Parts: sequence; structure tokens; C-alpha cells
Amino acid sequence: TFFLIKFGNFVFPIHKILFFDSINLLYQMKFGTKVIHAGIQPDPDTGAIMTPIYQTSTYVQEGLGRHKGFEYARTQNPTRLVLEKNLAALENGVDAICFGSGLAAQDAVLKLLNPGDEVISTNDLYGGSYRQMVRVYAKFGIVFHFVDMQNPQNIADKLNDKTRMLWIETPTNPMLSIVDIKACTDIVKGRNVTTVVDNTFASPYLQNPISMGADIVLHSATKYLGGHSDVIHGALIVDSNELAEKLHFIQNACGAVPGPQDCFLVLRGIKTLHVRVQRACENAARIADYLLAHPKVSKVYYPGFSNHPNHEVAKKQMRMFGAMISFDLLDDSEAAAKRVLEGTHYFSLAESLGGVESLIGHPASMTHASIPREERMKVGLTDSLIRLSVGIEDVEDLIQDLDQALGKV
Ligand SMILES: *Cc1c(COP(=O)(O)O)cnc(C)c1O
Repeated sequence: TFFLIKFGNFVFPIHKILFFDSINLLYQMKFGTKVIHAGIQPDPDTGAIMTPIYQTSTYVQEGLGRHKGFEYARTQNPTRLVLEKNLAALENGVDAICFGSGLAAQDAVLKLLNPGDEVISTNDLYGGSYRQMVRVYAKFGIVFHFVDMQNPQNIADKLNDKTRMLWIETPTNPMLSIVDIKACTDIVKGRNVTTVVDNTFASPYLQNPISMGADIVLHSATKYLGGHSDVIHGALIVDSNELAEKLHFIQNACGAVPGPQDCFLVLRGIKTLHVRVQRACENAARIADYLLAHPKVSKVYYPGFSNHPNHEVAKKQMRMFGAMISFDLLDDSEAAAKRVLEGTHYFSLAESLGGVESLIGHPASMTHASIPREERMKVGLTDSLIRLSVGIEDVEDLIQDLDQALGKV
């Protein structure tokens, strides 16, 4: 039941369960099949259809230097390995590396850089990603430029011979801007620049950046991949063995690994990813139309509208338009927003996104409170802006809920 397998630079004898995933990948599975089968096999010892949670810190060796490909659980864990193989298949990558959170995954990517290196990043970035860049990594001599990537020319303007990384996030949070991934990666092609796409908001069901020229895809699996608001987890998917090797090394050397139980939860969440995201997107489309027609709503940010500035790009690179919506009230006071935010029953007032349940949030005071008001206002992030993460409840109930909450304004 053991086979030889290449893991970075090393060749290991490895258990059947891990060997079969490479056979799995030979099939040209479609997305809805991949989520359930890619990298996953019944447990060869018992037939258990669910991947076991290998809750162990170490592995007994048969003799000196003779083991089954697993030595110590910071370095390798079978539950984590199955999840990594599955994620690699979902994002059309060659390998994946899982972490204890999305920001731990980002931390590993930034450790690829050296002092003096420059990063060009999207300006409308997830707040925690921005904080890690400017408050942690800038002091190690890494230089960050934040540009509006809706116009890829802004990347070309900052590009120089110290540029080593391009950091893209699309759709952006909370303004739901769309960045043309292919156009941006094309600009740095042929240069020594690693392109990273934070694909958390889209999920692999909607968008696969590696197929558009990205080298690394980042996910906060806490969101759509996990999908049930019950786990914090992050992942990187890479397009080359060289990058995989470097990132596996950083992961093992720095230690931000996820526990096997959390890997199991993400694996279980992924099995319904396509069904959940599809329904959430359908619900969001209905809700966006409803909000647009509402007399108390002044503006709705949603990439599915034909007059969204980058609607054509969204159509080209995404399967559907996502399940995130932001909107502004005609009464642009925080007090008005508060009535809606505290007035819903099914939309829960909370940070985060991507779960089966709908959430409502106030970016100005919650996720984006660390950004100065003046900066926020420049991009349209007003005091009355409300963000929705649309879940998979019955859409009629969700619309009725928003209707009664907006009635309180
Ligand atoms: C939540 C989030 C992160 C950070 O992920 P954690 O799992 O919370 O560490 C990074 N990027 C985006 C777009 C996110 O929404």
C-alpha cells in the first residue's frame, strides 16, 4: 500500500491514500465533481468515506529514516495534505499550502521578499491585509505602493527594477470594484515579479486567477471555502513547484499551520461550495435589484449591474457576480445606517462574510475603522455605507427583512 512520491526535493514512500490523488487529478473533472472528489479517497484502512482527522503530533517510524512520508505534524499532516490537494485542483494550481488563517497565509507570501523589495498592491484592500503590510512588513524595509488597479496603467507607473510582487484583490472590499486580473499580470510578465491574487471574495467557484496569469492565489478559507462561519483558516495555491517548495519551507520554518480538525471543517465546507455560492449569487442579484429600486437607497455597489464601471471585466473573469453588495442611504447620516443595521432579523450584524447565513455590516465603524475618514470618503466609503454578505436563505425572506429595516429610516 506504499508508493514513492515527490514532495519538494524529497522522495518519500507514501501511503495509498495520498498516491491516488495524483491519479484523481488525471481526470478532467468539472468543478462540482472536483469539490467532492479531487485529492480525496475513502480511507484505505477502514473505508471511511470522510477524510479522517489525524489528530496527532508525531508518527512512529519503522526504523531509522524509514517512515511513511510523515515525521512531525508541523511539517506534514494527512488531513491537511488531502485539503491541499483538493484546493490545488479547485484553483488549477500544482500545489497548495494551508495555514492557520488567511493572514498567516499572507504572512508566508510576504516572507518571500527581501528588504528593499517593492510591492504594488490594490488600494481598496482588505483592512487586515493592509495593516500587515504597513504596520508589520514596512518596518523590515519592504516598500508598498497602493494604486487603483481598476486602471492597470497605474501599475505600469509604479513599476521599477525593485518591484518583486504584485498584490491584487478583486472584487474589492467594501466598494466591490473589479480589477482585470489578466490585464494586470500581463503588465509584469517576463519580469521577476510574483503575482498574488487574494481570491477570498470570489471563491474558486467564481474565478480562477492562476488561469489568468497569477502565480499565487490566496484564500481566507474562513469565508466561502469553509462556508459555515465555524473556522479560521487560510490557504495558498501556487502555479509552480518552485514556489510550492519555498512556501512549504516557510510554513515549516515559521509554523503557522492549521490544526487537522480545522482542515476537516474546510474540506467538508468545500463539498458544497458550488451549490452554496451559486445560490448566494442568485439571491444577491435579486437583492441588488430590490435595493436599486428602493426610494431610501441612493447607491448600490454590485458588479452585476451593467452600469458598474468594470461590469464587462467581471463578466469576462467571473462565473457569476458574487454575493457581496454595498449600498448607501439617501439620508447619509450614521444614525440612519444604524437603524437599518440594528433593524434586521435574518441579516446578523457581524464582521466576516461567505457563510450560509446573511450578514450585515457597517464598514466605516467595523472592518474599515482603521482608515482615516478623509481617505474613506475619497473612495465612497461613507458613514452610511452598509455592506451585505448574502447567504443562502430564501430570498423572499431576506428582501422582506431588508424592507422592514429600511422602513425604520
Ligand atoms: C478575511 C479576509 C482575509 C483575512 O483572513 P483571516 O482568515 O481572517 O485571517 C484576507 N483577505 C480577505 C479578502 C478577507 O476577506
